Amino acid sequence: MTEPLLKVRDLVKHFSVRGGILGREVDRVHAVDGVSLELAAGETLGVVGESGCGKSTTGRCILRLIEPTTGEIWFEGKDVMAMGRGELAALRRDMQIIFQDPYASLNPRMTVGSIIGEALLIHNLTKTRHEFEDRIVELLETVGLNADHMRRYPHEFSGGQRQRIGIARALAVSPKLVVCDEPVSALDVSIQAQVINLLEDLQEKFSLTYMFIAHDLSVVEHISTRVAVMYLGRVVEIAPANELYTNPLHPYTEALLSAVPIPDPTVARKRIMLQGDVPSPINPPPGCHFHTRCPIKQMPLCGTERPELKQTKEGHWVSCHLRG
Ligand code: SF4
Repeated sequence: MTEPLLKVRDLVKHFSVRGGILGREVDRVHAVDGVSLELAAGETLGVVGESGCGKSTTGRCILRLIEPTTGEIWFEGKDVMAMGRGELAALRRDMQIIFQDPYASLNPRMTVGSIIGEALLIHNLTKTRHEFEDRIVELLETVGLNADHMRRYPHEFSGGQRQRIGIARALAVSPKLVVCDEPVSALDVSIQAQVINLLEDLQEKFSLTYMFIAHDLSVVEHISTRVAVMYLGRVVEIAPANELYTNPLHPYTEALLSAVPIPDPTVARKRIMLQGDVPSPINPPPGCHFHTRCPIKQMPLCGTERPELKQTKEGHWVSCHLRG
């Protein structure tokens, strides 16, 4: 079997909540609570869940933009957690991120050319000024912009164009893995489709691997090879996209799926309304994190024992005492 490009094991990220005069730790936010996943080269793993489920923190921990509390991250067989500064800097060439907010993620005081070219300079990827500018023009054209845009500033662009600039910046170093952190959430629906199509074209052209983070299943449906559903810091289900959309096993996935609109008006889908809010990650419920809202909870075990992620059939994993 081929080694996955990325392997994550038992990733945990807790944030300290400090208080009092001495600023001592008074609580901990359990943002990521034991996530394991793999990405094969060339695939897109959609990662979906409500706000605060830990999906973006997981993406940032993988890149070590946020330092994980514990866990293992392996990229092309290399131990990312053991890497020092120099190795991490080199790794940034292979692993890039596209941020959610195209307004906040671009420095308003820098020209588009400087934003895209920053990584080229850091990694010393071009030798002359001419080569540097040619590469920036090439990147702009790759994402559907043009050479004239190089000397302009981010505020002169629409949201969709700014996201294209963010994509060009990520592509500048020719990465292998791109973490797309809700790249279309801040955009109008019509623009979302354009950006997703662009990402798909770029994936084919440059053999990219994507971890595509979104908060609803409809956004990742067409772009994903596989989908992982997260709830309160844990992966509750992971399966090939087609399998997950046609045969969801976890009750949380079923609820998310019931909210996805079906274009065919003759097909009715019953909406599953979950009761209550997502519990605080400072004090997550014991056992199955979902048990306080689960519409099918039937066993005392649900409230006391964490359900392991178990494989039910080829590539389909679920974390549920009843369905695993
Ligand atoms: Fe529901 Fe229990 Fe399954 Fe959790 S383990 S999803 S509470 S049935």
